[in-house]
Amino acid sequence: MSTLRISRPVYDAIRAHGQETYPHECCGALLGRSSGNGWRIEASARTGNTRTDSAHNRYQIAPAELVKIEREARQQGLEIAGFYHSHPDHPAQWSATDFAEAHWLGCSYVITAVEQGKATVTNSFLLAGSTEEDKRFELESIDVAAADEPFVAAAESKKA
Ligand SMILES: [Zn+2]
Repeated sequence: MSTLRISRPVYDAIRAHGQETYPHECCGALLGRSSGNGWRIEASARTGNTRTDSAHNRYQIAPAELVKIEREARQQGLEIAGFYHSHPDHPAQWSATDFAEAHWLGCSYVITAVEQGKATVTNSFLLAGSTEEDKRFELESIDVAAADEPFVAAAESKKA
């Protein structure tokens, strides 16, 4: 099982985003670096939900917005590591639509359940596989670290 390492401020921010947009879905991108067995997330970028037809159960990020996010991420030495969205009054499990619309192989898809306006469970699913045909979601563990805790540096120095 891979692990999504995420700083506490980013973790709190994506959960708060879901509470703010309730009863609609929120969505955004996760920016980070590859850490061998999963991503380490250092920043997030809120995005508009372009699915105004049914914003409560669909999400989509405009391509132009994604290009802009990717450019800004690279300037900070980061990559698009995944995406997050919320499930208002639904479990933090991926839906058939989520799976169909997930195309970033190797990226993490984070879902937060928001019940009655309050963020509850947050899960992360790695989009595994090498092609669109054999892609699959694999549940991964989430390791939330404090912002001032050098969790990656510590893990790397232990290995060295
Ligand atoms: Zn969803």
